[in-house]
Amino acid sequence: MSNYSNSLKKISKQLEVPDGFIRLSGPLEHDSIVNGDGLRAVLWTQGCPNGCIGCQNPETWDYCAGMLVPIKDVLEQLSKFKGQTGLTFCGGEPFVQAKACRTIADYVRKEFGWDVWSFSGFTYEGIREYGGEPWEFLKSLDALIDGPFILKQRDLSLRFRGSRNQRLLKLELGTAQILKIE
Ligand code: SF4
Repeated sequence: MSNYSNSLKKISKQLEVPDGFIRLSGPLEHDSIVNGDGLRAVLWTQGCPNGCIGCQNPETWDYCAGMLVPIKDVLEQLSKFKGQTGLTFCGGEPFVQAKACRTIADYVRKEFGWDVWSFSGFTYEGIREYGGEPWEFLKSLDALIDGPFILKQRDLSLRFRGSRNQRLLKLELGTAQILKIE
């Protein structure tokens, strides 16, 4: 089993969020053009195990910080964002709260017709190997930007990514098979 899978398994046990809630690191955003294609709402999750050197959001690492918010309140706020084409999950590490994120992803797709992207410090392969809720969340996505931020590979010219190891993966909805790698 890879290091990323081990890390995902360990942290998934530690981050316990009650059913119907999600832990956020900041307010929901809208009209973003820097977190994916189109005009996007952005949800910032709290809690990250990856510890990337040079991370721009280290305040999102602590699993007990941020705000524990009912998912129904998140959905209500998102419904007020007009003119958006999609939702992007940022972190923190969205995949340690995969079940809550999947609930939100499926709702905004069905009710608002939005596409859904997520960032992850885990790799696609690590998430597939782990399976379970993280893999189910991946099946609800149109795109994943994967892998940790690696300072030595930082490249400011990349679209939506910070370092060259990270990939923009376009996924098949429902199967999470990779359609395209950018
Ligand atoms: S995965 Fe993202 S939030 Fe987590 S440490 Fe790395 S850059 Fe920071």
